[in-house]
Amino acid sequence: MDENLTYGEDYKYIPATSIESGVGTEVLPDLYSYTIQIVNIVLVGHPDKKEFVLVDAGMPYSAEKIMTETERRFGEGSRPKAIILTHGHFDHVGGIIELIKKWEVPVYAHEFELPFLTGEMDYPEPDPSVEGGMVSKMSPMFPNEAIDLGSHVKPLPEDGSVPHLPDFRWIHTPGHAPGHVSLFREKDKALIAGDAFVTVKQEYLYKVITQEQEISGPPRYLTTDWTAARESVEKLEALKPTVAITGHGLPMTGELLTDSLHKLVQEFDSIAVPDFGKYVDETSE
Ligand SMILES: [Zn+2]
Ligand SMILES: [Zn+2]
Repeated sequence: MDENLTYGEDYKYIPATSIESGVGTEVLPDLYSYTIQIVNIVLVGHPDKKEFVLVDAGMPYSAEKIMTETERRFGEGSRPKAIILTHGHFDHVGGIIELIKKWEVPVYAHEFELPFLTGEMDYPEPDPSVEGGMVSKMSPMFPNEAIDLGSHVKPLPEDGSVPHLPDFRWIHTPGHAPGHVSLFREKDKALIAGDAFVTVKQEYLYKVITQEQEISGPPRYLTTDWTAARESVEKLEALKPTVAITGHGLPMTGELLTDSLHKLVQEFDSIAVPDFGKYVDETSE
């Protein structure tokens, strides 16, 4: 590997966790969600087939855990065909450099996320003044500097297809991040939502620790465009997913998911949009 891959200078271990940390859930036979501290990664692919993809790359310093869990599910020495990123926030790329070095697989993200993944642009600072929650108050410690994956990261195909996952398509769901994407499979209406919406009130440390299930908009302290965030949730609700794995919180299925998503769309202002915060403005009210 001749390129110099780097995390931002603010890369660090984040001391926050939940009771689900280290727990994996087989949501469908080929859809496996695994919790690392306070975030989920997804292994997509049937364990018998040995062809699979990793969605997102966990918290800082979690590469070892991801490799162990991957080998536990797919067998020793197994590696995914690719890593797909829903977006590039610190808690979704925390182990990615070690994974690239070990696995030598390509990483795909929406082209609008590439500046944050190729060292060109930092994410905006998290907002500790946003309405609600101890996690928001902690958010200034979260890394927001660009990481540099050089030529290892590539844009997702423009036609909406997802490399190595022929049944899935990616859907642009910006708002939480400009190039945020969700992955959707029409045949069983399975959704990997990233942080477009989540199933835990991620701003509240107590709820994060207990993983109390409750539909929520994207994590507030890092969401910068609430108008786009609303449209993204509407887009996903219209797909009528039957199963959703979100970046944070427990997987949600069936009627609970249908009803919760409907409620989130109907009451987006009160459930999702904070009453105050530096990224909240008149246009999103
Ligand atoms: Zn995020
Ligand atoms: Zn996240």
